[in-house]
Amino acid sequence: MRLFFKLLLFTFCVFLVSFSGVSQPSRTNYELTEKMKQAIALMEIEDYTSANTIFRNILATEKVLPNNLSYHFALTLYHIKQYKNSSNFNKKYLNLTGKAGDYYTQSLQLEELLDQAFTEIRQCELCDINGYQLITCTFCQGEKNIIEACSKCRAVGIISCQKCKGEGVVITTDTFGENKYQTCDRCSGKGLHTCDLCEGKKQLNLVCNACLGTGKESSKSICTHGHNH
Ligand SMILES: [Zn+2]
Ligand SMILES: [Zn+2]
Ligand SMILES: [Zn+2]
Ligand SMILES: [Zn+2]
Repeated sequence: MRLFFKLLLFTFCVFLVSFSGVSQPSRTNYELTEKMKQAIALMEIEDYTSANTIFRNILATEKVLPNNLSYHFALTLYHIKQYKNSSNFNKKYLNLTGKAGDYYTQSLQLEELLDQAFTEIRQCELCDINGYQLITCTFCQGEKNIIEACSKCRAVGIISCQKCKGEGVVITTDTFGENKYQTCDRCSGKGLHTCDLCEGKKQLNLVCNACLGTGKESSKSICTHGHNH
């Protein structure tokens, strides 16, 4: 009788384990595999944009990701010309799998293609380092500099003397404790002198912070490097 109960308990435990430990994750795995298949099928018909969207969705929702996903995602990113992102995911794939990866040769080929793309980008003056078209800086209108009213003299060009505090006289105490009065040599006794920040120009010519003085900013359009397609 006791043995029967032990057996029953054992069977029950096995049932519990198989139910909670196996069937649950296999369902998510199934969904993930289906999504991957769908994306790869889209890549085969060269719809890289849709495939990329599916991969993005997988990346955003799944906690555990198959290594191969990094490579496939990198390939779609290459085709939609997001070279920097593509390179990041391709490197990640190579780091994760090394020579043992299912797509080792393909990922090396992708790396080569990315190198070519980056070389073309470096040689092009129309785009930024990631291959996005450069447009005129909207902040400085391409002027590279921003002209601002001088903050030190409030655009007057003259300030109260910094040495004598505008008094025109400098007071010093001698060894006997007596005050000595001398005409200020900084302002020649006028109490005012030319603003040292703007040098009397009343305005400041500042390097545009938005474009760091290049006069250009990156747009969201991918550069064609001067080709018309
Ligand atoms: Zn002075
Ligand atoms: Zn000034
Ligand atoms: Zn600018
Ligand atoms: Zn370009």
